[in-house]
Amino acid sequence: MNMLRLTLTCVTLLLCSPLLAFPKQSLVPGGIAIIELEQDMVDARFTFQDKPVLVLPENGRSYAIVGLPLSLKPGEYFISGRSEHNQKLVKKFFRVKDKQYTTQRITIKNKRKVNPNQQDMNRIIPEQKRKRAAARYWDENIPDVNFLTPVEGIMTGSYGRRRIFNGQARRPHSGMDIAAEEGVAVKAPADGVVIETGDFFFSGNMIYLHHGEGLITMFAHLSRVDVKKGDSVKKGQVIGAVGATGRVTGPHLHWSVGLNGNWVDPALFIEPVP
Ligand SMILES: [Zn+2]
Repeated sequence: MNMLRLTLTCVTLLLCSPLLAFPKQSLVPGGIAIIELEQDMVDARFTFQDKPVLVLPENGRSYAIVGLPLSLKPGEYFISGRSEHNQKLVKKFFRVKDKQYTTQRITIKNKRKVNPNQQDMNRIIPEQKRKRAAARYWDENIPDVNFLTPVEGIMTGSYGRRRIFNGQARRPHSGMDIAAEEGVAVKAPADGVVIETGDFFFSGNMIYLHHGEGLITMFAHLSRVDVKKGDSVKKGQVIGAVGATGRVTGPHLHWSVGLNGNWVDPALFIEPVP
């Protein structure tokens, strides 16, 4: 582990352990809030905006790891939970700052990938339903949040960019693009289960993994998918290969990380604190 990150973590938690491996906290839209929970609340299920949040135990304490939507306005927010043994309702507050993401202009040769026709829409609508269901997936397994980088490639700080495709505004970028050549192996960043896969209109060949308690990773534009829905995968296992399928300008991996139904900045899981 990066020494600076470890030192900062020790200062934050007043507790040192070489095993601490949380994602980096970033209290901005698209970031992550890390909130220590009281000992008498360990049996509580905490929610943020009515969705359950990931809670990780660490050295006899527990911490809520909360994904903040990219569309969140700056301000004060809270998670809330009710303990089963004493029915106590607890709210834990945190403050979210503004972040200005940059704008990117992209030219796509296949115009239907920007302005789909009716036939394309008949395909896109059910695909979006499947994607929404995958993003909300939940089970009680405690995930490993100490991610491996899914491909060897050039990371870009592309998360959150507002995007203009062929002169038209589209939704901001919900993941990180990693530049790599077609055919480069894509590996599972942690143990998980394949909860969705297929060839989708915008995402091309893609895979959703669930790692536990609503922590999701998604891989898009693949040339090859080596797993099927329901498969269990191990950390580091090859699940597919980089490609240029779907709405792309060239081969790369699009990687998204979801927490409590929100796509957050994947860099918070793999980059050391600067
Ligand atoms: Zn992308």
